[in-house]
Amino acid sequence: MPHDSHDHTDPPSDLTLRVKALETALTRKGYVDPAAVDAVVDTFETKVGPRNGAAVVAKAWTDPDFKQRLLDDASAACAELGFSGQQGEQLKAVENTDDVHNIVVCTLCSCYPWPVLGLPPSWYKSHAYRSRAVIEPRAVLEEFGVSIPEDKEVRVWDSTAELRYLVLPERPDGTDDLSEDALAELVTRDSMIGTGVAKK
Ligand code: FE
Repeated sequence: MPHDSHDHTDPPSDLTLRVKALETALTRKGYVDPAAVDAVVDTFETKVGPRNGAAVVAKAWTDPDFKQRLLDDASAACAELGFSGQQGEQLKAVENTDDVHNIVVCTLCSCYPWPVLGLPPSWYKSHAYRSRAVIEPRAVLEEFGVSIPEDKEVRVWDSTAELRYLVLPERPDGTDDLSEDALAELVTRDSMIGTGVAKK
């Protein structure tokens, strides 16, 4: 998998540096509470972003035609729900089944499908995850509390700047009578990276 043309391996842009300098200055003067900034970032990382992906997954669970379109062309299917744009132009959905568990990593940096998952968690960007997810995915999954039976295949997908992945987790048993919205509540960010599973 070619892994070149990484826009985010370039030095920080002027804008990024200016924002950082401004934040530092305002924090030093006591005008900005770093915890408040963290709360905004956390909202984007854990609430706003992945809810988009969860809506995609819930629709795929309840609408077989949409699921097929998602597996055929994830970028187009997500755009149907209004989720498209930067870092999501080339999106591929990979389906977890009884026989296969998918897990996504970016071994070189932190390529991630922003329109459906928001910003990547810090561990996704860590050297430990980026290296170990490829070398020993089952051990990494165990540390996330996910035990994959030996007879189930684990597929590791290496994201690139050109192609990013969304895991379509398995729909939990006993959810036949749940609405699409209720199903979406079961879909965690980690279940769409593959380091978690959807649970009732
Ligand atoms: Fe990357």
